[in-house]
Amino acid sequence: MTNAATKTAAAGEFVIAPPPLASLPVRGISARFPVRRVYCVGRNYAAHAIEMGHDPNKEPPFFFQKNPDNIIQNGEAFPYPSKTQDVHFEIEMVVALGKGGTNIPVEKALDHVYGYGVGLDMTRRDLQGEAKDLRRPWEVGKAFEASAPCSELVPASEIGHPDHGAIWLDVNGERKQTGDLNQLIWKVPEMISYLSGLFTLAPGDIIMSGTPAGVGAIKKGDVMHGFVEGVGELRTPVV
Ligand code: MN
Repeated sequence: MTNAATKTAAAGEFVIAPPPLASLPVRGISARFPVRRVYCVGRNYAAHAIEMGHDPNKEPPFFFQKNPDNIIQNGEAFPYPSKTQDVHFEIEMVVALGKGGTNIPVEKALDHVYGYGVGLDMTRRDLQGEAKDLRRPWEVGKAFEASAPCSELVPASEIGHPDHGAIWLDVNGERKQTGDLNQLIWKVPEMISYLSGLFTLAPGDIIMSGTPAGVGAIKKGDVMHGFVEGVGELRTPVV
């Protein structure tokens, strides 16, 4: 697909230095995974939907986005963001796409997955709540600086496609969130298929697949430690 926005420029043709491409490491190799878009699934575990005051049985999946340059790497510090008193962690499995498409059938969707990782959908919950109340968009609550800590990816060619297994988050060694991938309301193939009906997916897109129950606030000095069974771990100190 070529249009004005994707037109390439020869070296030296940009009026300012082009921004760096966001990317994630891949376990065991030096080549990195380039990130094009960051999609997030909302309320995708029943127990979390209930804790946020919603009925998990009534909703089709819904999505929001973060910016690729909101990603920080495993071990990098999360700077407590501005204009908020209530920053929440949301531990999530990250699905990284190696192939794109539109209207991808559910039964073909896993062929589009490059690999998996562990991510945090960091959220300014107070600003998100205000946005919900005022029927405004969610970017101020979700798509701010460093709001997407992500681990290295592991290729599906090595680990397959995890559809069950523990997902948890500890803060300062204390278990805060716990769930199982088999509790996802919209499974990975379904979220890819549904998303591809709304957007043109492309290699480099990643999807944060939703968080289990137990979300809560962090403060400066905390250390978050996330885990997805068979996929990996993520450590993020708050500064
Ligand atoms: Mn989330």
